[in-house]
Amino acid sequence: MTQQPTRICILGGGFGGLYTALRLSQFPWEKSQEPEIVLVDQNDHFLFLPLLYELLTDELQPWEIAPAFEDLLKDTKVRFCQGAVSQIEIENKQVKLQNNTEIDYDYLVLALGSETPLDFVPGAEDYAIPFRSLADVYRLEEQLRLLETSDQDTIRVAIVGGGYSGVELACKLADRLGEKARIRIIEQSEEILKTSPEFNREAATNALLEREVWIDLETTVSAVKSDKILLEYRGVINEIPVDLVLWTVGAQVSPIVRSLPLKQNKRGQ
Ligand SMILES: Cc1cc2nc3c(=O)[nH]c(=O)nc-3n(C[C@H](O)[C@H](O)[C@H](O)COP(=O)(O)OP(=O)(O)OC[C@H]3O[C@@H](n4cnc5c(N)ncnc54)[C@H](O)[C@@H]3O)c2cc1C
Repeated sequence: MTQQPTRICILGGGFGGLYTALRLSQFPWEKSQEPEIVLVDQNDHFLFLPLLYELLTDELQPWEIAPAFEDLLKDTKVRFCQGAVSQIEIENKQVKLQNNTEIDYDYLVLALGSETPLDFVPGAEDYAIPFRSLADVYRLEEQLRLLETSDQDTIRVAIVGGGYSGVELACKLADRLGEKARIRIIEQSEEILKTSPEFNREAATNALLEREVWIDLETTVSAVKSDKILLEYRGVINEIPVDLVLWTVGAQVSPIVRSLPLKQNKRGQ
């Protein structure tokens, strides 16, 4: 009787999952020990997130930053399985997908990434757009096209978060919208890119000033509505009319990972 190979199941085909799969498949296994590697992702493509912004300015097209797993893995022995993970049974060593597929495993790699939490303030879930996936880009594109083809003289954008994502988005949108752009970054601390080296902070500040992006420091968002955002600065709340709100703050671990009966830190990792 031939023995079944050990199965390593990798959940999530982002940077963590895809590279784990590729490295494991390149490992010089003894023939008798070579494992079966299964990579699971809800999408049929990998997404190179650092270049997501360039889609907004047409510098890149989706196919350039979102290659299909089938193509990426075609010369490897990694088996790709498309499906959204719905449950992980640690005791039975089994993963269930939403399409009812069940995958038994010997070893499991959790690489499901994180999600942008939109439940911080009232209205964010309904009116703010996160920026983390192709679906988010398409949603934003649709809104931008509506605004660009309207007879409005200005397009008012509020970007919540003065981290890398907020700064890059602000610059790309300013380049795209040109003279119509009225963009503001809302940052709760006293500076943007708080955890970055001084050089990066200066370069980012200059890039934003050149493009006339306003920076609201020490300001928090208290609510988002369909056509305005409520900002709190030193205890005073101001209502600012906006056409678009983009939310770049926070990252939370996938609920599937959170619900596992395993030791976790405060962030659910
Ligand atoms: C816009 C943007 C720009 C960034 N730019 C940079 C940068 O310039 N430099 C840098 O170092 N970092 C950057 N980052 C951060 C970097 O992308 C992340 O640190 C990295 O992607 C984390 O890798 P990961 O494998 O943990 O998760 P991800 O790359 O997010 O991969 C998670 C994968 O899991 C899949 N998945 C999630 N849930 C399920 C489910 N239930 N079922 C099946 N599949 C699922 C997703 O489809 C995804 O493919 C950026 C992030 C964003 C959002």
